[in-house]
Amino acid sequence: KPVVVAIDGPAGSGKSSVSRATARALGFDYLDTGASYRALSWDLLDRGIDAAEVDRVIEELERFDFRIGTDPDDYYVRVGSTDVTDAIREPRVTAVVSLVARIPEVRRGLNERFRAIMAGTPKPGIVAEGRDITTVVAPDAPVRILLTASEEARMGRRSKELTSETAAAVGEALRTRDEADSRVVDFMNAADGVTTVDSTELDFDQTVEAVVEV
Ligand code: C5P
Repeated sequence: KPVVVAIDGPAGSGKSSVSRATARALGFDYLDTGASYRALSWDLLDRGIDAAEVDRVIEELERFDFRIGTDPDDYYVRVGSTDVTDAIREPRVTAVVSLVARIPEVRRGLNERFRAIMAGTPKPGIVAEGRDITTVVAPDAPVRILLTASEEARMGRRSKELTSETAAAVGEALRTRDEADSRVVDFMNAADGVTTVDSTELDFDQTVEAVVEV
């Protein structure tokens, strides 16, 4: 049975890049669960389905054909035959993803797929990253980590290359999304048995080191 390393945390905590580097360091696979919520959101936008039309969303979820690369050195996201690796990061997708992710049937359906991916990895383990991996998707994982950083540090990392005006807008968007998301699952506080790694004072390599240590 592959070893699961579960990592949760808010937007801008550096989760994705840290999780991927951790997977690489351990020779494990890597699962970006947020990308799946984004891919479904992209697909709904593409088909003109509003997240508020819950029945249609659920119907779409049932035929939703997505593939995600779990090799940390070969990351991609596809919906059907369309490569959406970059498209799922567009602001129009980010703007609706929380609405899609709060639908319980969507969470249940995607969680099943996550568990199948985790169980099916050919590697000795898999680093799975998201908002509810430590609590819902893989609460029995032998390693569970909450990756945090002060709000200032998270905003700073996201807006490094932006003008101050767009940086403020990006900061506001991150805050709004975290607020909406944390009403659905609590990823701001470590659940029982979850180790907190606070990266506020750490650089990237030090953060990866701290996670690998755990
Ligand atoms: O991690 P990322 O920012 O790409 O996640 C995009 C969105 O997917 C989050 O804002 C949240 O709404 C949703 N998500 C979730 N549960 C997860 C991972 C992501 O609800 N485990």
